[in-house]
Amino acid sequence: AATGSVTVVGLGPMGRAMAAALLDRGYAVTVWNRTASRADDLVARGAVLAPSPADAVAANEVVILSLTDYVAVDAALEPAAQVLSGKVLVNLTSATPEEARAGARRAVERGAVQLTGGVTSPPSGIGQPDAATFYSGPREAFDRHRPVLETLTGRVEHQGEDPGLAALSYQLGMVMFWTSMLSFWQAVALARANGLTAADILPQATDTADSLAQFFAFYTERIDAGVHDGDVDRLAMGVASAEHVLRTHTEAGVDTSLPAAVVGLFRRGMEAGRAEDSFSSLVELLARPGG
Ligand code: NDP
Repeated sequence: AATGSVTVVGLGPMGRAMAAALLDRGYAVTVWNRTASRADDLVARGAVLAPSPADAVAANEVVILSLTDYVAVDAALEPAAQVLSGKVLVNLTSATPEEARAGARRAVERGAVQLTGGVTSPPSGIGQPDAATFYSGPREAFDRHRPVLETLTGRVEHQGEDPGLAALSYQLGMVMFWTSMLSFWQAVALARANGLTAADILPQATDTADSLAQFFAFYTERIDAGVHDGDVDRLAMGVASAEHVLRTHTEAGVDTSLPAAVVGLFRRGMEAGRAEDSFSSLVELLARPGG
């Protein structure tokens, strides 16, 4: 069993799973949450519920922050400003890269350091060997507290000193996660309007999702080389296909926001003179919307 002690601030599903994983490994855990009752199960297992954020922060050098956003982080840390000196704030709260950098600057102003983290697994993955977290910020703090970090997720990766890097990696994952999951909800809605269930289309949806990695790999080399040749696909073909998708939703009486947005992007590519280029040329349009 570990001999260390750690503070966890924020007991949503993630913070609760983290505190539980630390208790499982033998850490002494102090917790604080705005709604104190969320600590009940953890206290029953031996965690100490601090009466205030300042008491929670003062209790340990390592303070894990798992809050909804940085507004909540500021709300929790403000009353603890006097006891932040010397602390390592492991901030696993979702944020933009700029918010993470500003948070790290505020920590330094108070004599603390921030390790920004982006956890890529849901609460069920916390404490598991294959779950992963991106970190950035002071390497020295990462190395020194690596055993604690590896208790939260078995895989950890330090990406660099810039506290914004881990936030960027997290958001790169999330833009794909939200749009991909929405694509599944969209297909389920279309299926349902046609008398099919989610379970009916799961095998096909899984095949489609599995096929995406090979498309990413194929287009990556060409995109980085600035090559958008229309040798395997043309935007003119893509726009016709996207319009079939859109009209299938219209026929079924299903919401068209998402498929209409796709058609809109394809049409803008056409207007930019890309009809004979690959639909990968939309990357250029997305990266510089003003042209
Ligand atoms: P929740 O939003 O469910 O809970 C976060 C905690 O923030 C709660 O304890 C809540 O307190 C607290 N909080 C919110 N606003 C304030 C405030 N103004 N002052 C003080 N405390 C506040 O988040 P999760 O536990 O689900 O996730 C935590 C972080 O991890 C988020 O940034 C999320 O994006 C990220 N994440 C979540 C994943 C998931 O699957 N859930 C996966 C990967 C990352 P109270 O209990 O009093 O409401």
